[in-house]
Amino acid sequence: MSNEKRAARLRAEIARHNRAYYVEDAPLVPDADYDALVAELRALESAHPELASASSVTETVGAPVTATPFAPVEHAEPMLSLDNVFTVEDLEAWGERTARALEADPGAVRFAVEPKIDGLALSIVYLDGVLTQAATRGDGRVGEDVTANVRTIDNVPATIADAPGRVEVRGEVFLAPDDFLAMNARQRQLGEHEFANPRNAAAGSLRQKDPGVTASRPLSFLAYQLVGEIEARFAAHVDTLARMAEWGFLVAPETRRVEGVAAMVERSDWFEDHRHDLRYQIDGIVIKLDDLAERVRLGSTSRAPRWAIARKLPPEERSTRLTAVEVSIGRTGRATPYAVLEPVTIAGSTVALATLHNEDQVALKDVRPGDLVIVRKAGDVIPEVVGPVLEPGRRRARPWRFPTRCPECGAPLVRREGESDTYCVNPHCPAQLLQQIVHFCSRGALDIEGFGEQRVGQLIEAGLVADVADLFDLDPAAIASLEGFGELSARQLLDAARASREAPLSRVLVGLGIRHVGPVAARLLAQRFGDVDALAAAPLEALESVEGVGPVIAGSVHLYFREPETLERLARLKAAGLTLREGPAETRVAATLAGRAVVVTGTLEGYGREAAESAIVARGGTSPGSVSKKTYCVVVGAAPGASKVRRAEELGVPRIDATQFETLLETGAWTATLA
Ligand code: NAD
Repeated sequence: MSNEKRAARLRAEIARHNRAYYVEDAPLVPDADYDALVAELRALESAHPELASASSVTETVGAPVTATPFAPVEHAEPMLSLDNVFTVEDLEAWGERTARALEADPGAVRFAVEPKIDGLALSIVYLDGVLTQAATRGDGRVGEDVTANVRTIDNVPATIADAPGRVEVRGEVFLAPDDFLAMNARQRQLGEHEFANPRNAAAGSLRQKDPGVTASRPLSFLAYQLVGEIEARFAAHVDTLARMAEWGFLVAPETRRVEGVAAMVERSDWFEDHRHDLRYQIDGIVIKLDDLAERVRLGSTSRAPRWAIARKLPPEERSTRLTAVEVSIGRTGRATPYAVLEPVTIAGSTVALATLHNEDQVALKDVRPGDLVIVRKAGDVIPEVVGPVLEPGRRRARPWRFPTRCPECGAPLVRREGESDTYCVNPHCPAQLLQQIVHFCSRGALDIEGFGEQRVGQLIEAGLVADVADLFDLDPAAIASLEGFGELSARQLLDAARASREAPLSRVLVGLGIRHVGPVAARLLAQRFGDVDALAAAPLEALESVEGVGPVIAGSVHLYFREPETLERLARLKAAGLTLREGPAETRVAATLAGRAVVVTGTLEGYGREAAESAIVARGGTSPGSVSKKTYCVVVGAAPGASKVRRAEELGVPRIDATQFETLLETGAWTATLA
């Protein structure tokens, strides 16, 4: 295709997305996909200047306001967009270029570093202190009159004190992430369409014909710019922010004025780390010159000011092709559907698999093999499929159907009434058995080395292992004959299993995978009853009377020890020489983390930051604030620091889920790492 044709095609495509995004508030693709189209067009235009034109979408702002129910409003000063950088190096280069343009020392230029709120821009005009008009950005020159709607936003002051004449306050209208989720839940109940993200929900809510509808949506406004003559009363941007705060506007409390390019980059890194701790969704950081006179010296292009830049954060959503939907079987038999994807980089890591949770979720999202789908990997780190990208004219496969039989053993898959999960009901399913044995040998349980998924799979297939009890009387000669084994490795495997026979009862209980019994409950039970016979014989009331053990755990344990299979297993484990006792050493806090550095990022349920740290220290470990090669592991809680997670990834430091924290404290190890 000729460059000219390609440019025309890109422009048409971008215009189509602009319409969907700015006019209909219903984007067709994730922002990162859109940004890639714009970047391609920009590259083409700069390599072939004859293709560039002032009307190209790379030179314009937003989309013209046509066919809207709102009256047009001409802006007194254009509402511009922002230029972008995507890397720290480009941000540094921008900072240095800006300093050069001002003939200033890059170490001395003052910048304001602010969150880039993912909402929509709004201008609010006050005449003699009274809110008179509010308008959207539109194409930057002409916006839409949304005054009646803006009057319904709770945190927009109707009047402002000591503000004679015309005062224009600009900022962003947004929806807090929690409010967004609640609003979509309501939309679902009402059978109305759901919004793709908080930004579009905010835009859709503001641009309502009926202000009553806007009033029912939890919109907020954050002020970031003062425009017009009043600006002349101030020397610095941060002073204008302070004034707007005095008037009662919300201004970003995280904004900092810093001196020099290095400090500016550092503060922008802070935002990357705390991206999920803020009350608004951000898609980047905005860096502005703080000195208003310097801004005037640099001026603006037709599209964006030269005195500001947006550092875009790595996108948390990308689209990619769904190759297949498959089902994996866990150790309890739960069948979890997951998406097999064409690998795509999201938030700094490669994603090739993403969870689809359960049958209802697949149906709700209506994703089918062959579809282009949106994949999201946010703070909680486990990637998930959001939904399909509709491709008009493309034939889709038929809706995916949950298999009726276990892909591993062929037994029926059963979904009990009222439950959302589906299970393989064959207690001898090799996939379940495999996961049970791997779990039994994992570091959080008996910690038997050498029993990874692949080897255990071989042992099961060869008929050498059908229960955890089989691990202790393996036949070395039979193992040695398997592919990849020799006499030495067979013997090592057997020795490793035998070495774990003294393991305290609490770890064995974890390893057995009794429903609802995690390391904490296992320890409470083991301490109270001392050995497995006492525990197995305990009546329900005795189990329930253990402090910290509720009726659900007690019921599950009681049931477990009444199954004939369990009793047989225990008899075999005893015969193999397992002590199945809780020694006195286990009742003290053991130095499970002696000399180890455990970094915690994000919040852990049930632990404040200090409590988490002191729990680590009490076990002989340290809890430094940053990740290095020496870090033992990184515990990833809710809303973790992106740079810590990224650094752990780069250095190959294991990242473990917050649900494993107690296992880590108990045992100094974990049973699974995050993908
Ligand atoms: P932009 O969002 O990159 O930057 C400019 C805007 O940032 C301003 O207008 C303002 O509204 C906002 N902003 C937030 N916090 C700010 C702060 N502290 N100070 C100053 N401004 C702040 O540029 P844009 O022109 O508004 O839109 C482009 C964006 O929209 C891109 O992210 C693009 O991916 C997305 N988009 C997506 C689609 C799609 O189809 N998915 C289509 C069009 C545009």
